Amino acid sequence: MEEKCGVAGIALDGRSVSYPLFFTLYALQHRGQESAGISTWDGVSIRSFKAMGLVPEVFHDRHLKRLKGEIGIGHVRYSTTGESSPENVQPFTINFRGGMLAIAHNGNLINTEFLRRSLEKSGATFVSTTDTEVIANLLVKELLRHDPVDAIRSVSMQIEGSYSLTILINDLLIGVRDPLGIKPLVLGSVDDGYIITSESVAIDAIDGKLIRDIRPGELVMIKEGKLKSHMLQQMRNTAYCVFEYIYFARPDSLMNNRLVYDVRRRIGEKLAEEHPVDADIVSPVPDSGVTSAIGYSAASKIPYLEGLIKNRYLGRTFIMPYQQAREASVRLKLNVVKPNVKDKRVILVDDSIVRGTTSRRIIDNLRESGAREVHLRIGSPPIIAPCYFGINMSTREELIASNRSIDEIRDTLNLDSIGYLSIEGLIDAIGKKREDLCLGCLTGIYPLEIPGEKSTVRQMRLSQFKTRREHQWI
Ligand code: SF4
Repeated sequence: MEEKCGVAGIALDGRSVSYPLFFTLYALQHRGQESAGISTWDGVSIRSFKAMGLVPEVFHDRHLKRLKGEIGIGHVRYSTTGESSPENVQPFTINFRGGMLAIAHNGNLINTEFLRRSLEKSGATFVSTTDTEVIANLLVKELLRHDPVDAIRSVSMQIEGSYSLTILINDLLIGVRDPLGIKPLVLGSVDDGYIITSESVAIDAIDGKLIRDIRPGELVMIKEGKLKSHMLQQMRNTAYCVFEYIYFARPDSLMNNRLVYDVRRRIGEKLAEEHPVDADIVSPVPDSGVTSAIGYSAASKIPYLEGLIKNRYLGRTFIMPYQQAREASVRLKLNVVKPNVKDKRVILVDDSIVRGTTSRRIIDNLRESGAREVHLRIGSPPIIAPCYFGINMSTREELIASNRSIDEIRDTLNLDSIGYLSIEGLIDAIGKKREDLCLGCLTGIYPLEIPGEKSTVRQMRLSQFKTRREHQWI
């Protein structure tokens, strides 16, 4: 399971933006490891450098020096819509009659095909297979008739799905969050400017201060050092992605007024309440299970002891073509600390199970290393349905929990016991109202109607949103 992307935009006064953007993208690396890109406005045009690879592999001093300008945007990507190819690397740039624009997108549109077809009918041509290019083409069309704010307002009325965007229109930096706030987007400041980005850790990386989350449906604009906010659409409810808290976001990020670390720790405490078991140690699947295992251990008073150590130096391109090599890959990624698990009853804490293939190998390795019992505790409810909002998950058929009972999953994974966090436990741990969360992949009930999805129950009454055209200076 992979997050699709991370975005950033920075506007500074009298200082080049390329190095600060590089640092923010580095801090967002966990949100996308396939490609990275930066676009800056140099006073005359937009310059870009983007390529496949990790942030430090893509950018060298010579690239950053060439990316002149005090305003720019950046992107890290893991593909879900559109293949993994150089044409799909973002930011996506396009010329239009009024100048140039660059756009970086985290999320996934659910009406891309319809929009792409109608744009093609009106003469648009596409060079990539991404939904971001669809947004860029819609925006160019609207910019011929409207100012940037009204152009984006009009685009936001046409696109459906999840989108946190950073946009450069010549020397104007804009951040936009979809009306349900499915993907995160935050606003921060530094002494000489502003930053818009996916997670607060990227603001920390340039020694900035978090101002606040960008509101669902809000557009934030920075021009000539001044910050302005406009509400494009306002819904009765939000639909924050719960997997940002469970797995994707960094634990040190503050998201929608919640520290992710605190949520994960509470998830562990809730798991201990809901699924207690007699055991000798609580051990995480590193790294994402660590904070919840600490919470489980504290609540159960069972000692925390690491039974698995992660090899931090395996690249994302560690592709294993043969079965034998794939099995070796789990051992290389996660090694068992044999004396810590030998003859022990182990509670293993993981954030989630998607297909279950890696979990099975880890459990087999623990047993081969002498663990007497293995009890798996999962920091999310069972994933029973796919995600349509930008998370690369398996199809329904591949999901271990989509057509198996809990007892069948326990037997498939060769466990002594298994316990998933309940939906109520997860909602309590996050500390938001149920109707303000997206639980689509856990319930099959999505906050938007998904074309072709067999469960099309709407979570929220979307017809009842207000559109406000207020302008406020912050
Ligand atoms: S369907 Fe699941 S992964 Fe996708 S946005 Fe909703 S909660 Fe997040």
